[in-house]
Amino acid sequence: MLSLPDHVLAFMHTFQKAGYRIYLVGGAVRNLLLLGETEDWDFAVSARPEQILELFPDGFYNNTFGTVGIPVETNGTKHVFEVTTFRKESDYTDSRRPDSVEWTDSIEEDLARRDFTINAIAYDGSVLVDPFSGCKDLERKVIRAVGNPDTRFAEDALRLLRAVRFATVLSFEIEAETRESLIRNADRILNISWERIRDEFFRILVSRDPAGGVLLLRELGLLRYILPEVEAAFAIDQKSPMRHHKYDVGTHLVESLRFCPSEKAIVRFAALIHDIGKVPTYRKNPRSGLVTFYNHEVVGKHMAEAIAERFKLSNAEKEKLVKLVEHHQFTVSELQTDKALRRFIRNVGKENLQDMLDLRTGDRIGSGAKPTSWRYELFKQRLEEVQHEPFSVKDLKINGHDVMEIFSLRPSRKIGEILDKIFTEVIEAGLPNDRETLLKRLREVKADQSSKNASSE
Ligand code: ATP
Ligand code: MG
Repeated sequence: MLSLPDHVLAFMHTFQKAGYRIYLVGGAVRNLLLLGETEDWDFAVSARPEQILELFPDGFYNNTFGTVGIPVETNGTKHVFEVTTFRKESDYTDSRRPDSVEWTDSIEEDLARRDFTINAIAYDGSVLVDPFSGCKDLERKVIRAVGNPDTRFAEDALRLLRAVRFATVLSFEIEAETRESLIRNADRILNISWERIRDEFFRILVSRDPAGGVLLLRELGLLRYILPEVEAAFAIDQKSPMRHHKYDVGTHLVESLRFCPSEKAIVRFAALIHDIGKVPTYRKNPRSGLVTFYNHEVVGKHMAEAIAERFKLSNAEKEKLVKLVEHHQFTVSELQTDKALRRFIRNVGKENLQDMLDLRTGDRIGSGAKPTSWRYELFKQRLEEVQHEPFSVKDLKINGHDVMEIFSLRPSRKIGEILDKIFTEVIEAGLPNDRETLLKRLREVKADQSSKNASSE
């Protein structure tokens, strides 16, 4: 039987003493049964929001769903316990949100509105309430809709994606009837806002099996609504007389995602879409049979921008996604000059460098190559080196032309001396190497010299 920590039992007892029924519900019960631990503590209670607030005056209630957040402190760490009045939902007209929420006195009714059987178990501290055999489904590792799946997906189409997310995160199977219904109802996902789609999709991306998750989305007919660009890539064959490519573009993208070592959702996302520009740029020479994708990274860059817009990514996420797609074709060669390497770092951005390399690692393994090679290792080592190379006068954000202009000088040794002086100040006195600052400093030096010259005359 489940044992709950003392502070949780004490919390529940406060409600029970006041004559209310309270249950641990949702992910909390699921996680406890499955993993023996939980981070979220969600409760369903027979008390109405105002009655909950009478018991816990520091609770906060600012939604229409009956959920009161109650701050609790255990061993110095702060949590919020979410307590929601038993409720049922009625009349979904838009596959999105219930038209109205009604309180109820029955925990069974409350459990009946929940999405999947494994999320519809309640625990009052001693007895499990499990009207839909969620425990059995947990044991069998099955995602099954509560009640009629067609009805449930029609009510709220986000459940389509939640099914895939739970299946992926937990490594569960979607039960046959639920699965068939999901396929039938896949197009309803378009009723859902992209913010909500993105949140579920990102949870699939950061799971242990993001590639499996994307393939499942595809199997169920959801991928073509969420990422039609990737769906289309499965029809692009890359076999060509001169190039050896094991996979079609779509499979390569999924395999790149599978092997991308980054744990960041946005980098994994970039791995999944890095070659989408190959779909519109595909050309096959009818005589030679040669397949080309000219400029696919430029086309892909614009497609990545559109995807970022659609998924309502933040500016920072968008920028990273687009940069990674735009530059994923970077050259790795022992013949590259330091200058070329520095330009690469500048283009990609220092902050994106490791992510860019992670994408390449996924890209390599995902096309059947070895994770690395001596050439790739040398490249990475040189990237480090050029970043740590001592800074020289040439790296200053001002140059000889600026000096000549400000000091009204013609080319002469004097110019080099002035630049050296500024360089020393940057290296030793911490003068910031930015153009405005350095130009200002040049004018000061010039003014100093003029006044010295004037006083010595
Ligand atoms: P996690 O917190 O890991 O995402 P969870 O099961 O707690 O898992 P939440 O989104 O926090 O998921 O929702 C809490 C509970 O509310 C779920 O377990 C489920 O019972 C119910 N629920 C959430 N979203 C829906 C939905 N769209 N339709 C029906 N029930 C839902
Ligand atoms: Mg939760």
